[in-house]
This record gives sequence, structure tokens and C-alpha cells, in this order.
Amino acid sequence: MQHVEAGEVRSTCPYCGVGCGVLLKPDGTGGLAVRGDPDHPNNRGRLCSKGSALGETVGLADRQLTPQIGGQDTDWEEALNLVAAEFLRVREEYGPDATAFYVSGQLLTEDYYVANKLMKGFIGSANIDTNSRLCMASSVAGHKRAFGTDTVPGVYEDLEEADLVVLVGSNLAWCHPVLYQRIAAARAARPQLKLVVIDPRRTATCAEADLHLPLAIGSDVALFNGLLAEISRRGAVDTDYVAAHTSGLKEALKAARGDDPDATGLDEDELAAFYDLWIGTDKTVTVYSQGVNQSSAGTDKVNAIINCHLATGRIGRPGTGPFSVTGQPNAMGGREVGGLANMLACHMELKDERHRKAVQQFWNATALPRENGMKAVEMFDAVADGRVKALWIVHSNPAVTMPDADRVRRAIADCPFVVVSDITLRTDTARLADVFLPAAAWAEKSGTVTNSDRTISRQRAALAAPGDVKPDWAIMAEVGRRMGWKEAFAWDGPAQIFDEYAQLSAIAGKFGLDFDISSMSGKDAAAYDQMAPLRWPQSPDQKGGRFFADGQFFHADKRARIVPVRHRAPKAALSRKLPFRLNTGRLRDQWHTMTRTALSPRLSAHLPEPFVDMRPEDAARLHLKPADMVRLSNACGSAILRLRESTEVQPGTLFAPMHWTGENAPASRIDVLVPSVTDPLSGQPESKAASVRAERF
Ligand code: SF4
Repeated sequence: MQHVEAGEVRSTCPYCGVGCGVLLKPDGTGGLAVRGDPDHPNNRGRLCSKGSALGETVGLADRQLTPQIGGQDTDWEEALNLVAAEFLRVREEYGPDATAFYVSGQLLTEDYYVANKLMKGFIGSANIDTNSRLCMASSVAGHKRAFGTDTVPGVYEDLEEADLVVLVGSNLAWCHPVLYQRIAAARAARPQLKLVVIDPRRTATCAEADLHLPLAIGSDVALFNGLLAEISRRGAVDTDYVAAHTSGLKEALKAARGDDPDATGLDEDELAAFYDLWIGTDKTVTVYSQGVNQSSAGTDKVNAIINCHLATGRIGRPGTGPFSVTGQPNAMGGREVGGLANMLACHMELKDERHRKAVQQFWNATALPRENGMKAVEMFDAVADGRVKALWIVHSNPAVTMPDADRVRRAIADCPFVVVSDITLRTDTARLADVFLPAAAWAEKSGTVTNSDRTISRQRAALAAPGDVKPDWAIMAEVGRRMGWKEAFAWDGPAQIFDEYAQLSAIAGKFGLDFDISSMSGKDAAAYDQMAPLRWPQSPDQKGGRFFADGQFFHADKRARIVPVRHRAPKAALSRKLPFRLNTGRLRDQWHTMTRTALSPRLSAHLPEPFVDMRPEDAARLHLKPADMVRLSNACGSAILRLRESTEVQPGTLFAPMHWTGENAPASRIDVLVPSVTDPLSGQPESKAASVRAERF
């Protein structure tokens, strides 16, 4: 293999959806040297600060290496028997929907496949949802509405081939740093590539931007409806494309003209500059992330963006298209495998009888649910009111990260039977487990992940699993066998699981869906181990794989839908008592609830404590000074944070990072302030628009 030194193992970074390849060299004492893989198409050797520090996060200091029941160490036999027996008992006494799995975009595809098969195929409920619901569910719903399937149209090379990249609700420089580096390198080589950042905050990403539009929080639909109306007014609609490949433009234009771009808070010059650039540049890619998705109007925002691309025929061609970038390393793999409550597998639908019957037959399954299961917020509501009585949480920390997190923490604590699989007991959620199952960590696991542009990459174990820990697929397969489904969960390794999954995808292909990776089936363990990164749909030259080049979409009539949408303000109302709009987000050097990144001193040195950014004039009005401790509060709860005066935020708005937990800053958990309001289609919570008051602590 090119560029691999003796002793190095090819794998992938476990953090963001860029999906960078890494080369891992064990040092023989449990540590790892890490460098970027020069041959990996996603990063070509680059790594960001988090990826570079991976070697500092693999120690055993915080690991729990044996199963526990009721806080006492036990063996696997006892723990797995108890999990299987309790899930069977609850299913028998209360029905399958009294059980639920809450899993994670950190899972490998093979883990996800086993979890989904166990819950939907055999336990017989669709109550499996994932923390990816909090990340990109609105993109899924928007894609399905526009294209007929959850298809990401573009590829990373489009960002380099475009003449205009528009980043909406995305601090790419911090949250997808290597993708940002690729755009910066492309701009250095080709200065005509313009960059526009649309974000209420002036983030680090704006440093490179030709134009920053600090729109009002939650006003993206008004902005893109304004753009659609302007596209029409200037005669820039691609009428041939629209007539041949889309439907709905007339209705969407009527809706768009009903919105007032003033809702964006942008002035006429800012709007005109954006419209001029967007309409005047054929090769435009519009990238969007959590600022779009994490909204009670998230799906409409996604469709408002896609509408503009469809109306101008800027999709399916190099350097064009709407582009959703995912937060987690395998959010896409979870979508493909069907690991959300409203999916089946391989982009098939639970509610479609043909799909359901075909999957049931393929799995030789006992029962498949006919209806979608509960999405994350609904699931924890059902835990709170006692409808869910057996809950299995896998590699996630919902007691910190769910909206209304204090309520969710109480709900988990009160649930009759809670299983947690994780690498450490030191999370707020693991502390609430009746049964703790010690799972293998990133560097100890083998499988596949799919990044934001549909590239499937191998993750390979570089370190031996310590103590009694097991990979997640093996833990869940063991439980499936102990519940009585021996043949269905009889794999001996991830290669067999991947092969079954690839075979299953042939059914999706036969139904005319986008996700068919059946040509990747038939690999034995050795061939699976050698698998090079591959973007689906497959193409002979690794630059292909772009969807919709032929203008054919996945609705029955093969046309894309231009969807009428209208601006809606965030649901949490501002008032005299709750005058601030609270935005939440990530920091450059931390990941989720810091289980791994906090182990690296250099990552923790970047921004070492929880804080809230407030505009200087707002701070002065409240007689607050920099470094004062401030209490933010609303009806959900309160959080105490150190004040940073900042001109990055707008007057009347605040920003606070989402990483700190009950383990390291119990009074500063920001998601206790986020209300449980969701997008009506995607079920994604509105994590960036709480209303709060602020006062000196
Ligand atoms: Fe890892 Fe994302 Fe950084 Fe790449 S950009 S090294 S995938 S965190």
C-alpha cells in the first residue's frame, strides 16, 4: 500500500462527518501515534486539531472493563442473561413498544445494522432512534420530500470545483475543519472561488468569507424564499430544467413571494450582494449544517435551499448542488442502515408493505412493525411517562444532550430497566444504568463508516480490546441469541454482517431506490479487511458518484419536488422576562460531551471552561463585566456560565457551547435550557433558539 509505514494500521477518525483517514501506529504500551492518511480521498493526509490529538485519548484511565449490574462488577454471562430476560419480559407483559433503543452516530455501520435488525426485525418495535436525530434528521426529511429518497446529491470535489460556496448555519472551520481546509486550498489555487457565510454569529469561518450575512436566528426560510422570488424576478429560472425534471415551482414561488426578507434582519445591500452573487454564479454549492437542521422549521429550511438549486438546474452537475454535511462520523451509515425510528433499512420504508415484506423475508424475521417508532424526543417523553419500561442506550449521553436535559435525566433515572453500553462509567447517563456493558473503544473496533459525501471507509482495530470489553455488534448479537433468535444473530465478525447488509441493499435497488451496495457483497474477511474507501453509487473512477446527473429523481414520476414553504419564527417566544435568544454549538477542540477529547491536555487548553458569549452593550445594560458568572434560566432550568463579551453575537442573542456535563461542570449543562420543541416532519429539536433571561450569579 502507498504511504503506509511498517506497523501502521489504516483507519478513520471517530469525530466529524468529514471522515478523514488516519494511520495508526501502536507504540506497544497501549498508546498510538496518529497521522493523516495521504491516500484517503476525504482528507489526503490532512487532520484537524481533534484528529491529530487522537493518540492522547486512548488510555485506559477512565475505562470500565467489566460489566456491572446495579453498580457492582459482574461477568458477561450474568449481565447479558439479565438484559435478554428483561427485554423479553417487558415485551411479553407490555408489548414490543414498551422497549426502546437509543443509539448513536458514533456506532459503526455493522453495529447499527445489528441494533436495527434486533429491534425492528425481532423484538418487533420501531422504537430505535439515535442521537443523529439531533444532528441531521431535518436534512433526511427535506431530501425525501424533494428527491423521493434521502439522497445527498453532491460530492466533496464539488466544493473545490464550484465558483461559489455558500455555508449556511455551519461553522465549518471548527466543526468540519478538513473540509474547510480543502475549500481554503481551492481558493488559494483559484481565487475566483467565492465564499459566503450565512450565520447569526461571526464565527471563525467568516475569516475567509467574501461575504458574511448575520441573519436573524431562524430566518433561513425567509432568506432563501427571497432568493427564489428574486431568481424568478430576474428571469434566472432554468425553464427547460424545471419543465423536464421538477414539479411545484408555481406554488413554491407563490409561497416565497408571501415571505418578507425583512424577517432576516439583513439590510437591502446585504440581500442584494447575496442575490447578485448566487444568481450570477452558475457553479454554486450551498452547504448547510446544524444551524439549518436544529430548528422547528428545519425541514422547510432544507427545502427552501434545495428549491433554489432545482429552480436553476444547479444540481447533479460538477460544482453545483445543495450539500448537507453531517456532524457525526457515521450519521450517514445510520441513515443507510435504517437506524432511525422512521426508516426500515437501506432507505426502505416501514410503512411500505412491499418493503416491509421483502425485509421480513430476507431477515426471516418474526414480526416487523407497520408503523414508525418514536423519535428521540417522543421516546424520552415515553420513558418519562412510563410507556417505555426497558431502555438500552448505546454510546450516547442523553442525560446531558437531549433538550430539557434535567427532565430527561429524571426520566432515565426513573425508568424501570436501563442498559447502557459505553466505554466509561464517567458519563451522566452511564451513572443511571441498571446494567452497564463495557464496549470496545474506537481504536479497538473494526467495521465501516459513511461520511457526508457517501464514502464508505473501513475503520480498523489498532489496539487489542482490554479487559472484558466487546464490540457493540457482538454485544447486541449475544443479546439477540439469548432472546431466542440464534440463527438471525449468528455472525462471527463484522465482515459477515457487512456482507448480509450489502445483500439486503439489492432489495432496495430492485425497488428503484438509491441505496444499493450489493456489488460490495461477497467479500470474505480478508477482502473486507482490504476494502479501500468507496463512494456509493460506485463508479470506476473515484470522482464519480454524483447523483441526479440525468435529472431523474426517486419520486414515482422521476421528478423532483419544489416544495412551497413559509418562514416561521422559532417556537420559544421572547418576552420581557425571557429577552435573550440562546444559540448553542460546538467548540473547535471538543467533541460532544468530551468523553475522549477532555483526555487531551492540548485540546482542553483551547477553551477550558464553560462560557456564554454576550454582546458588550447587553452586558453593560445588565451591569455585567467580562468574567462575571452569569445565570441563564427559563422554565426548563438554569445554567451558570462565565461571561465573555463578544461582538461575534448579535444584540439580544447569546452563544454557549454544548460540551460540558454533570461530570465536569454540573451547573453549566446548557441543554437543560433547550425546550423540547421539534420540527413537525423530522422530529429534530430546536437546539439553537431557546429564550432565556440572564443575570449575575
Ligand atoms: Fe476528524 Fe473531522 Fe478533524 Fe477530519 S476534520 S480529523 S474527521 S474531526
